[in-house]
Amino acid sequence: MSEYVKREKIGEGTYGVVYKGYEKSSGRLVAIKRIRLGCRDEGIPGTALREVSLLRELSHPNIVWLQDVLLQGAHLYLIFEYLPMDLRRYLDTIPKDEFLDHVTVKRYLQQILRGVVFCHSRRILHRDLKPQNLLIDDHGSIKLADFGLARAFGVPTQVYTHEVVTLWYRAPEVLLGAARYSTPIDVWSVGAIFAEMVTKTPLFHGDSEIDQLFHIFRILGSPTPAVWPGLERLPAFKPSFPHWPTATLSAHVSSLSKHGIDLLTKLLSYDPNQRISAKRALLHEFFRTPCQSQQLE
Ligand code: ADP
Ligand code: MG
Repeated sequence: MSEYVKREKIGEGTYGVVYKGYEKSSGRLVAIKRIRLGCRDEGIPGTALREVSLLRELSHPNIVWLQDVLLQGAHLYLIFEYLPMDLRRYLDTIPKDEFLDHVTVKRYLQQILRGVVFCHSRRILHRDLKPQNLLIDDHGSIKLADFGLARAFGVPTQVYTHEVVTLWYRAPEVLLGAARYSTPIDVWSVGAIFAEMVTKTPLFHGDSEIDQLFHIFRILGSPTPAVWPGLERLPAFKPSFPHWPTATLSAHVSSLSKHGIDLLTKLLSYDPNQRISAKRALLHEFFRTPCQSQQLE
């Protein structure tokens, strides 16, 4: 750590404390994520270290760059490029009756998808995409933070500060206990983030796993085996779940155009096998038409 200077704390993340700092040699700003390793004297989890080292090769304009990994005492220090703001805080700075302009929503969504495609093509899942894990700079770029950390360290049920991990961006197959899941889980999260960029409000804001599922059901209509083959075999599925027959999604994102709603619907398909991939999403009509006036075309 002698090459870096640690300054003020900027966040408490899922895996540890995040500090702002700089690199001594260049003066360049960095974010330093300090992760405590094991509670007992177990040493360094080898798999975690290998996974993290792999992430150093994830170099893409829409992925927050992990420039260094250092071990010191009982801590692992991950050194990232520094970005001034995360998307959640940015949405919170927008005055009450104003919204993110539609051109920005489209540009951000496109960049988020590009980052996701890059990672998925390398078989790396994020597993915890949410506005707090999307960082923005002053030049219109948005970048994914924390890619791959969940695989290295596991998805904890509580963050470092004992706050409960948010379920709002979690895919229904995960909530229903699917034993196997893959890249579609990140696509679902991108859908929820897309809607949140439009309205500034989380689309599905449950406070327990079951409440989260029912929030989704209310907005998308309850899933049936007809739209999601194999649904009834998922461990947490119960035939006694309440049945909401109709989808109300478009009413929740009323300022979104036809193309925008179509893309959002495809990102939020119940059946992970039918859910659009990040790669195909980038080819969607939504990105082909320029933004006009007040409508997201
Ligand atoms: P969590 O995983 O709980 O979303 P993180 O561990 O990524 O949180 O970090 C917590 C907060 O620290 C982020 O939401 C963000 O505000 C800030 N942060 C993380 N990484 C960076 C970075 N590279 N540059 C600037 N701020 C960052
Ligand atoms: Mg994070």
